[in-house]
Amino acid sequence: MERTKDVVVVGGGLAGLAAAAYLGRAGRSVAVIEKAHAPGGRAVTQESHGFSMNLGAHALYRGGPAQEVLGELGVRYTGAPPPGSGALALDRGALHTLPSGALSLLTTGLFGLAAKLEVGRVLGGLAAMRPAPLDAVPVSTWLRDAFRTPEVRRFVGMLVRLTTYCADADRQSAGAALAQVQLALGQGVLYLDGGWQTLVDGLRAAAAAAGVEILTGVRATRVAAEGGAVSFVELANGDRLRTGAALVAASPRAAAALAPDVPALAAYAERAVPVRAACLDVALSRLPRPRCRVVLGIDRPLYLSLHSEVARLAPAGGALFHAVQYGPELAGRDPERELEDLLERAQPGYRGALVERRFLPSLVVSNAVVAAEGGGYAGRPGVRVPGVDGLCVAGDWVGPTGMLADASLGSARDAAAALLARARWTLDRAA
Ligand SMILES: Cc1cc2nc3c(=O)[nH]c(=O)nc-3n(C[C@H](O)[C@H](O)[C@H](O)COP(=O)(O)OP(=O)(O)OC[C@H]3O[C@@H](n4cnc5c(N)ncnc54)[C@H](O)[C@@H]3O)c2cc1C
Repeated sequence: MERTKDVVVVGGGLAGLAAAAYLGRAGRSVAVIEKAHAPGGRAVTQESHGFSMNLGAHALYRGGPAQEVLGELGVRYTGAPPPGSGALALDRGALHTLPSGALSLLTTGLFGLAAKLEVGRVLGGLAAMRPAPLDAVPVSTWLRDAFRTPEVRRFVGMLVRLTTYCADADRQSAGAALAQVQLALGQGVLYLDGGWQTLVDGLRAAAAAAGVEILTGVRATRVAAEGGAVSFVELANGDRLRTGAALVAASPRAAAALAPDVPALAAYAERAVPVRAACLDVALSRLPRPRCRVVLGIDRPLYLSLHSEVARLAPAGGALFHAVQYGPELAGRDPERELEDLLERAQPGYRGALVERRFLPSLVVSNAVVAAEGGGYAGRPGVRVPGVDGLCVAGDWVGPTGMLADASLGSARDAAAALLARARWTLDRAA
């Protein structure tokens, strides 16, 4: 079967849905092709026994492109920031108070005196540091050169992991990492009521209201070009969608596989090193130890947080924890065991209250580390794919701003704008 669309979007995650909504609103006929049985990609939330489980710990950064795009598209959501105090730090096997202010810094056993003085200065000074000069510097070099005491290096390393999910300090750009830490410390994050499915449902509704056709359960197999311009998108069921414009809102590897003759896409796929996380998502009928809700690893790349403390994610009395080991391929320990040990440490006897448990050994949190080698964000590909007129990409590996969903949604908006601005398109329409 052959049909015609102004734009075909491959991938129905946050990026694909948002871009389709912008294009549909601008009057284009748009189809979104999603291989899974429902849209949402990595932002889906699983409902089980009254718990709403995101795919691993998800927090929406305030004040970034994601919030802007969601606002522009009229996506409604509610949520709350995690508590600013009361977290614990796990360092060399011992739990300590994680400093969140002058008093907790004074009393915590996490640091010696010299480190306490330095942390006090660092926390006050991080906001004023300029990220740009650090764009081409790896995080590991920055930590070594900018901070005196090893404890403070480890502490700032934890902040980088917490805000970027990346534990690859030798590869990651310190400029990009610092900007992300500043965003988190400045504006904070939200845990969302009902999970990130709220965002998926809102974007899907915005796209549908703009006339976008969303085809699920079918894989795109090829984006074809003729005479240097996009000509059609082929689906695994044999259908062809004739089009002059395609947006691939999927991973760099998926993009390269769809158009194997496009050298730029092959180069992106070759260069991108994914940020991975092992995730243990745990629903409990009660909280065995109410005061131990957040634990952040200092010498180990670990995270544990009770997301249901502030967001509606659990039935009355229930508790939803997300535990993460950052960079399981680098961490050098059995991630499942390490995360179970962390949870047992924080919530002794939690297995007696277990309702649901899901271990995901290696999720792709972001399709590409923002690397020092490429000069930070400057090294990421733009939305237009060179060499093929009418072909764009979007996702958390694309564009000059932001990480994670900020990059996905920001690049989705940019890709839609780039497609709408195409001179050829205007000529086609005029003809
Ligand atoms: C554990 C974890 C924690 C995270 N935490 C945060 C966080 O705290 N804050 C934050 O901002 N972000 C976070 N993220 C990242 C965020 O989830 C992603 O950046 C965002 O959801 C990516 O959306 P996307 O549309 O770009 O890509 P995806 O969600 O990957 O969507 C791509 C879609 O394309 C489809 N697809 C691929 N190939 C084809 C094909 N050939 N044909 C048809 N369909 C295809 C896939 O099925 C998928 O649905 C986290 C991610 C993970 C995994």
